[in-house]
Parts: sequence; structure tokens; C-alpha cells
Amino acid sequence: MLIDSHCHLDFPDFEAERDDLVARAKEAGVAQMVTISTRVKKFNQVVEIAEKYENVFCSVGTHPGNADEELDIGTDDLVRLTEHPKVVAIGEAGLDYHYQPEKAEAQKTGLRRHIAAARQTGLPLVIHSRDADDDMAAILQQETGEGAFPFILHCFSSGADLAKTGVELGGYVSFSGILTFKKSDDLRAIAADVPMDRLLVETDAPYLAPTPYRGKRNEPSYVVNTARVLAEVKGVSEAEIADITTENAFRCFSKMTRV
Ligand SMILES: [Zn+2]
Ligand SMILES: [Zn+2]
Repeated sequence: MLIDSHCHLDFPDFEAERDDLVARAKEAGVAQMVTISTRVKKFNQVVEIAEKYENVFCSVGTHPGNADEELDIGTDDLVRLTEHPKVVAIGEAGLDYHYQPEKAEAQKTGLRRHIAAARQTGLPLVIHSRDADDDMAAILQQETGEGAFPFILHCFSSGADLAKTGVELGGYVSFSGILTFKKSDDLRAIAADVPMDRLLVETDAPYLAPTPYRGKRNEPSYVVNTARVLAEVKGVSEAEIADITTENAFRCFSKMTRV
């Protein structure tokens, strides 16, 4: 059994075949998944999907790419929306200097509000970080100093130092299909150093399909391929990595029930 800790089932790519896709995930051994919010203003669409499928849970938050459009969303709004039983995480929020460097200030403001919501609710913050290692490490260090909060460095593709800081501060590190790409030796070396009890796997579907589906549309059932490579990296069996990442997911997403 595996858990896809991060996918986007509300995206239009999946509209026509969401039932099939959830069924295929189950057949592939992906028992549960967390569909991730990218706009609080479209949260209804995400939560509807989580309500429809017993084994789908969700988050609430603003993706850094949309941070400048949701500066009117405060910590209290986020906290209130987590009252729904299927909401098991905050985010995804963070810093993306690769695609939206011009939105850095809005992203930082949004990130700190999401951190406050994670601290207040005890739900993990799903962090998106791209080309922003130094700022992200500084904010995590400073904010954790003001009060610990659970978090996940999702779709990890940053440098070894940020992974190390994340682990030291008590966070989880989630690996996507990028781990399976031929040129990802550096990332595999980082994964080798992450403690077993902090590892998660995800698809980030519809993006970043793992080998052998690279370039195609991704879906939750493909997380099996990322888990297989992670098992190789850690020198354990596929069954072991499945057990470990699943236990980690339930510990991290502490509000998520086993269905
Ligand atoms: Zn992301
Ligand atoms: Zn995402």
C-alpha cells in the first residue's frame, strides 16, 4: 500500500475520467491520496472531490504562483476552512523564484500566514520551494524558532542544505517523479541521506510523470514508480518502502483516517 501525498485531482486534465483514475490508483496499490489546493478561492472544487471519494483527502491553501491574487486571505480564513473533516493539511504555499520571482514579497507574506495556520491547527504545511533555498531555509528557521509546526518539503528538487535544514527542523521530505529521471543523481544522493522516518512519495499529478511515463500526463497510480526508485536508493525492498512511507504519511497527516 502506498499513499500519494500530493496530487491535483481538481485540474481540468482529470475532469472526464476522475472516477477511473481513482479506481486505477486503488488497483495499483495507491490506497489513499491527498489532493492539494492551489487557490483558496477555488477550495470548493477541491473539497468536493475529497467528499466524493472515501480515500481522497485534501488541503487548503494558496500556491506561490497565485500568492499575489490571494493577499486578502488571512490565517483565520485558512484555519476556519480546516474544520472540514477531509482537510488534512495546509498549502501548498511557499516560494517559487523560478517561475514567479516578481511575486517574491506576496509569496513570503502568504507563506508566513500559512505557517501560522499550520502552527495553530497542528496540520502539516505543504511547502513548495523552487530556486529559493536560502530564503526558504531562513524563514523556516526563524518561524520554527517562534513555535514549531509540522511541514513537508514537497516535490523536493532543491539543494542538499535545504533538505538538511528541513529534517533538522522536524520536517518531512517528499519525492516526486523527478527522483526517477536519468539526470537526477544529485537528488537521489539527497534522498539517500534523508532519514527513513521523514520520507514521503508523491506524484504532483498531472505534472512530472515518473519514468517510464516521462512527458506524459501523470496520475496517482504512477507513484509506484517513484517508490520503486526510492527503495533502490535506500537499499530496501519495495514492500518496505511502501510500509515506511505509508506510516510516515499517517504520522505527518495526523488527521487523515485509514479507509
Ligand atoms: Zn508545488
Ligand atoms: Zn502541487
